[in-house]
Amino acid sequence: MSNPPKQMRATVKLMMNSVFTKSREQFFLPSNVIYLDGNSLGALPKAVVQRMQQVVGEQWGQDLIRSWNTHAWIELPQRVGAKIARLVGASPDSVIAADSTSLNIYKLLLSTLSMRPGRRIIISDIGNFPTDLYIAQGIVQLLGNQHELILSETSALADTIAAHGEDVAVVMLTQVDYRTGALHDIEHMTRKIHQVGALAIWDLAHSAGIVPLALEAWGVDFAVGCGYKYLCGGPGAPAFAYIHPRYHPDLAQNTLPVALSGWMGHSKPFDFDPYYHPSPDLRQLLVGTPAVLSLSALDTALDVFDGLDMAVVRQESLALTTRFIELMEPIAEQYEFALVTPRDPHQRGSQVSYGSDYGYHIVQALIQAGVVGDFRAPNIMRFGFTPLYISLDDVAEAVARFAAVMQQGAWRDQGLARLAVT
Ligand SMILES: *Cc1c(COP(=O)(O)O)cnc(C)c1O
Repeated sequence: MSNPPKQMRATVKLMMNSVFTKSREQFFLPSNVIYLDGNSLGALPKAVVQRMQQVVGEQWGQDLIRSWNTHAWIELPQRVGAKIARLVGASPDSVIAADSTSLNIYKLLLSTLSMRPGRRIIISDIGNFPTDLYIAQGIVQLLGNQHELILSETSALADTIAAHGEDVAVVMLTQVDYRTGALHDIEHMTRKIHQVGALAIWDLAHSAGIVPLALEAWGVDFAVGCGYKYLCGGPGAPAFAYIHPRYHPDLAQNTLPVALSGWMGHSKPFDFDPYYHPSPDLRQLLVGTPAVLSLSALDTALDVFDGLDMAVVRQESLALTTRFIELMEPIAEQYEFALVTPRDPHQRGSQVSYGSDYGYHIVQALIQAGVVGDFRAPNIMRFGFTPLYISLDDVAEAVARFAAVMQQGAWRDQGLARLAVT
């Protein structure tokens, strides 16, 4: 894509500034804290506090069990799913909000394996987030070790898929690497997966709400994602699951085996039928009673995306990460931090990571200086950016504090013991 002419660039910039100035006002953030960890736990949208007061105080407190109907609690998984659908390029009935990302991977992986009988291989990336890999390992064991999980290096994925050809049942990948921030080309990789007749499950934990997605247009079969990262749904927020419309007839005809056949996935839960008849749509993915409080928080949090164009979010997100990398250059050089995030903006998500042997201690010292990032074993310092509440000025201030922390050697004073959550 060529650059827009200068005058147009200025207009786009002005427009973006006003858009994000408005979105920044919608969040609570402690003063003097620059929060670069929204990729792990999104900040709190102000409106969520009111919604919680309403749901807890009025709906639960006053209306009690009637609220399932009067406040449509029972429809929250679909309503929230439909809001997420716009952000991931899916039709409203292709996404449902429920359970955790781990559990949604379990449900989808188990179902999809049965859609490719006779094929033994599951392929993933050795750098994939551990829970995704653990879930796959558990399923392989549960199914009597008839399947094999092959963990490929990222650069060898396409070759690994081609090499195993028609033995491959499912390829399960995360679009943005949680350590390095490297970004997969979903459309390209999904085509490679389909070329051997396998199914694609994409984990969008570090992309939903920050990277523009077109799941339906790209032909992605199945996807999952996280509600508490860029979507700002709060700690432990429900995750989401996506099923391409080409499989919706299978849902309706009950030809896609249901991995966890709980009563909320029944077509008529309140008939209390002793026999399981799955719902004809994505509600098949529901298991037990919806987590009304956390779904309500996520529902309101998603309103901060109203009117935001994901292409504009992406443009500003790349401006933030590019500026951070540029300003960090002298610090990285002086203290021998290895930039593990791709320099090419089109190959990264919205985080910047550096490797350093002292990474854990430096991150702790930074947090004390009001710059909140996080640490991922073995040696990664990770900083996430979202224009919804981080500006270019915040980036400059964060780097200034970073320089001061390093100069003062504050990180040397950090205790050696790691906290339970890093
Ligand atoms: C954060 C993250 C998860 C989290 O899964 P939970 O079940 O919510 O704990 C899963 N996969 C990836 C790739 C993640 O980044």
